[in-house]
Amino acid sequence: MNFEFYTSGQIIFGRGSFNRLKEIMPKYGKNYLIALNGDIMLRNGVLERLEKLLEGTGTQITYFSDVLAEPDPETVQRGCEIALANNCDAVMAIGGGSAIDTAKAIAGLATNGGNIVDYLEGVGTGKIITKDTLPFIAVPTTSGTGAEVTKNAVISSKEGKYKKSFRSEKLLARVAIVDPELTISVPRAITARTGMDAITQLIESYTTRKANPMTSALAIYALGFAPDLIKAYDCPTDIDARESISLCSLISGITLANSGLGAAHGIAAGLGAIYGVPHGEACAMLLPHIMRLNLDSCVPLYAHVGRAICKKAFSTDLAAAEAAVLEIQNMCAYMQISLDLKHLNIKQEDLIELAEASMGSSMSGNPVQLSVEQWADFLAKLI
Ligand code: NAD
Repeated sequence: MNFEFYTSGQIIFGRGSFNRLKEIMPKYGKNYLIALNGDIMLRNGVLERLEKLLEGTGTQITYFSDVLAEPDPETVQRGCEIALANNCDAVMAIGGGSAIDTAKAIAGLATNGGNIVDYLEGVGTGKIITKDTLPFIAVPTTSGTGAEVTKNAVISSKEGKYKKSFRSEKLLARVAIVDPELTISVPRAITARTGMDAITQLIESYTTRKANPMTSALAIYALGFAPDLIKAYDCPTDIDARESISLCSLISGITLANSGLGAAHGIAAGLGAIYGVPHGEACAMLLPHIMRLNLDSCVPLYAHVGRAICKKAFSTDLAAAEAAVLEIQNMCAYMQISLDLKHLNIKQEDLIELAEASMGSSMSGNPVQLSVEQWADFLAKLI
């Protein structure tokens, strides 16, 4: 058995951990570029809290709030220019996965230079980063993507019809601060889809062909907290439930970074790149279908998932595995996440293009391996 395991240099998890930025930020830089999702952190008072925390530390901040839901090369390039023009010596993100990926990519590009597209898997020129990045701190405010502990930034292009990763161990955050209190203000629909992203990441990294003992142990442990997503959805201020889903998200990032994912994420990349479907929603609507496709090939693994998320005993593995699929379907239906792709008006003749855009690194870990044509046939039943 051979495997490697990477994660962020330090993970600080828990309610109120945001306050630790007072000591952490001055340790890594004097002059930060901070990537944000628009003005939401200004409106909910988080930036005011940050500025108060930093009083007397001499830490300078340049805010970069132009982050797109699907970060594109132009935004990363512009953010990098702003960081260099302001002599920033560190980068931070306070936001969802899109802000974290934007900041991560800026931190890498600022020291390694060139065009971000050259570094992207599948569409770039194979360029790799060789120099250490600017120190990077990630503070997630959704739960989520787990991007605070992953070694890739996902970059998309509508024109290029791709959603690809800028990946390197050097891109790992120096510090990830995961404070569940920051997620209290996330609206219900976003709670639903970001939470289903974390659950999809846990299930896919547990069932992938590339799983290893460390990722499997972590993923199945975290799946035990998955039912709390419904509590967070029903009552956004339920801090216990928020904490559970923050933990799911964090652990899902650790497991995906070390074992990869599966076909729900593969096709979600295609749906995001070509049809602009939000990442978590795309994962959620595909997950039950992908689980059904994979079920026969890994009944025991899905049985573990079923027992973890249904929290009851089953007389056979097959019954537990089938219950896992049903439970995910019911969670999506309860949170009003569509269970097919009909509303996207995808044309039959465009399915090969969608299947081709889905054949990234996630696809290679899926238990069932299909050709582009077979994936197009699979998708035809969902449109
Ligand atoms: P997001 O970053 O687009 O955020 C979703 C929305 O939530 C935004 O409108 C944002 O303004 C709002 N928001 C964020 N925090 C909030 C808060 N505390 N209160 C109120 N509103 C808040 O969505 P996401 O699902 O977090 O991230 C998706 C992105 O992450 C996609 O681009 C996806 O490709 C990427 N991703 C990256 C990785 C990785 O390992 N790098 C993994 C999974 C997904």
